[in-house]
Amino acid sequence: MSNKWIERADKVIMNTYGRQPLVLVKGEGCRVWDEAGKEYLDFVAGLAVCNLGHAHPEIAKAAAAQLTQLVHVSNIYYTTPMVELAEALVRLSFADRVFFANSGAEANEGAIKLCRRYSREKFGPGRHRIISALNSFHGRTMGALSATGQEKFHQGFEPLLEGFKFVPFNDLGALAAAVDGSVCAVLLEPIQGEGGVCLPAADYLKDVRRLCDEKGLLLVLDEIQTGLGRTGKLFAHEHYGLKPDVMTLAKGLANGLPMGALLASEAVAGAFVPSAHASTFGAGPVIAAAAKAAVGLLSDEKLLAEVRAKGAYVQKGLSRLQGKFPAIKEVRGLGLIWGLELDQEGAPVVAACRERGLLLNCTQGNVIRLLPPLIVGMEELDRGLAILEEALGLL
Ligand SMILES: *Cc1c(COP(=O)(O)O)cnc(C)c1O
Repeated sequence: MSNKWIERADKVIMNTYGRQPLVLVKGEGCRVWDEAGKEYLDFVAGLAVCNLGHAHPEIAKAAAAQLTQLVHVSNIYYTTPMVELAEALVRLSFADRVFFANSGAEANEGAIKLCRRYSREKFGPGRHRIISALNSFHGRTMGALSATGQEKFHQGFEPLLEGFKFVPFNDLGALAAAVDGSVCAVLLEPIQGEGGVCLPAADYLKDVRRLCDEKGLLLVLDEIQTGLGRTGKLFAHEHYGLKPDVMTLAKGLANGLPMGALLASEAVAGAFVPSAHASTFGAGPVIAAAAKAAVGLLSDEKLLAEVRAKGAYVQKGLSRLQGKFPAIKEVRGLGLIWGLELDQEGAPVVAACRERGLLLNCTQGNVIRLLPPLIVGMEELDRGLAILEEALGLL
């Protein structure tokens, strides 16, 4: 693929991504355009970031108004958008308090620090370990990476941060066996996203909650990918009948502007005191204003009910494809996060879809992941599924 932008990029940008050969210049709703003017249906949505679609007018308006009002003053002062955003998140969740960061990894770093500090205050030193799941993904900074249960992401970066143990997801016995006096918390994604859209067994998360209560452990849910409406509830754990002590958010929080958040109950949040933790850009007024608009729209019960209905529709469509193509081993998902596990590499399917005007993502080498904007229309779902069917037919 010869393209002047790609040639230039490949000379000056670090080679950390297996990028698709696409230079995107514009987006609106569920569609994006490349620099040659070709239109694509976007079922990646910035990897579960643009949940309200591209260029949402209300979010653009909120951010633009704030840009000419006040952009940055530092967290040594109060600003109004951060207060309104935190109030909304507290009203809409189990949490009592929020700390704002700029990314998912940074939110998880905050969660790790909060758990350690809370536990040290409550139980004394030596109880600092966090158990997380194999096949998990929690981010790329050293702490979040150390919490990530996939060796391929660790390679070459050792030594990792000390204090993490991994157990298989959905295995309560293994989790119970891993708990000892050195453990302070359990960190899980309710649905493993990057790991291939792996769902929890029906009672798994509730059982983990009970175990944490019995052992005095904090339950931290990483809802960075599953939160903010993606599964048809504002937070995925609402499907499973439990509440965490700590939750991290990012991706969809400001619908494309960078923001992360760490939410906790009053008792746990109390471990953070002045100067215990900080972030220069956290909850800057522009991002917070955008996030406040996004959270307002994403928490609308009508939108969430539509996501659940669209999810059922996608499930039907994908199950039909599974019946037609033996290459599909499994169809997994909830709301508008879906994975299609193939018995072979998924890259050719992604490429064939792209050529036909549909953007999809492949994770774990063989899981085609669908993350359309939550505002996707039924006819857009039909068109996307038809292109996917055509692409699978080429295998
Ligand atoms: C994307 C993701 C992260 C990392 O977020 P960044 O903003 O890229 O740091 C962490 N956890 C989960 C579950 C994610 O999907």
